[in-house]
Amino acid sequence: MTDKPKLHVVSLSGGKDSTAMLLKMIENNMQIDIILFCDTGLEFPQMYEHLDKLEKHIGRKITRIKAKQDFEYLFSEHKIKRKRSEKFIEKYGEIKNGYGWAGPRMRWCTSKLKDLPREQFLQKLRQEYDVIEYIGIAVDEGYRLNRERNQNPNHIHPLVDWNMTEADCLEYCYSKGFDWGGLYKIFHRVSCWCCPLQSLDELRKLHDNFPELWKKLEYWDSITWRKFRADYTVLELEKRFAFEKECLEKGLPINNKAFFTALKERLKNG
Ligand code: SF4
Repeated sequence: MTDKPKLHVVSLSGGKDSTAMLLKMIENNMQIDIILFCDTGLEFPQMYEHLDKLEKHIGRKITRIKAKQDFEYLFSEHKIKRKRSEKFIEKYGEIKNGYGWAGPRMRWCTSKLKDLPREQFLQKLRQEYDVIEYIGIAVDEGYRLNRERNQNPNHIHPLVDWNMTEADCLEYCYSKGFDWGGLYKIFHRVSCWCCPLQSLDELRKLHDNFPELWKKLEYWDSITWRKFRADYTVLELEKRFAFEKECLEKGLPINNKAFFTALKERLKNG
C-alpha cells in the first residue's frame, strides 16, 4: 500500500481484446486516466486507422509512445557486441549489424519496441502515482493469463472478471462498429504484420492480401543476416506459395510427401 494518488492506466494494443476492455470500462464508468498505446511502427495501416476511429468514438486522446530507435534501424544497422563463436561465424559468415529477425528465443523487438518504452513511460509516473494497469487478456487465454499473472501480480484483467472470451471481445467490438477494415476476417491474430513467428498460414494470408507489405518484408529480408524462419527465407516462402497455387490449380494436394519433395527440388534449383 502507498499513500500516493492512484493513476489508472489502460494498456491498449489496439487489438480486439484491449479495445473491448476499453469500451466496456468506459461503459461501466470506470476511472481511466491514461489510455496507453505503444507503437512499434509495425502495425497494419488498418490498425492505425482503428486507433484514430477509436479516439473519435470515445472522445478521448490515446497516449501514443514509441521507442527512440525504430525497427529498421535496430533490425539492420544497430551495432551490437556479439560473442563470435566459431559456430556462429560458420553459420552467419561475417557478422552484420542489427538484431535481425526475431526468433522464438530472441524476441528482441518485444523488449526494445514494446516493453522498454512502456516501462520508461510508466516508471516516471510511478514516482508520483500508484499506477494501476489494466491489461486486456481474455478469459480463455489460459497460458497468456497465467504468465501475465505470475510476472505482474498487480495488473488488473477486467475481461477475466467479466468472463469475456476472445470471441466475445470481437463480437462486442463489431457491435460497436469497429471492424479494423476486415483484418480479423483475414487473420486469426493481429499484431506486427512482419512477425516471423506467426504461422505459415498467417504469412500466406499476408502474402496474398498485402502485396505492398510483402515487398517490404522481402526488402528487410535482403538486408539482414538472420534467416526469416528456420525453414524458409521470405523469397523461399514466396516460391512455396506460388508452387502451392500451381498444384491446387492442377487438383494436386499440397501437404503430402510428393509435394514437399517437389518443393525441395524447386527451391534448390532457384
Ligand atoms: S509480434 Fe513478433 S515482430 Fe512484433 S514485437 Fe513481437 S516478436 Fe517482434
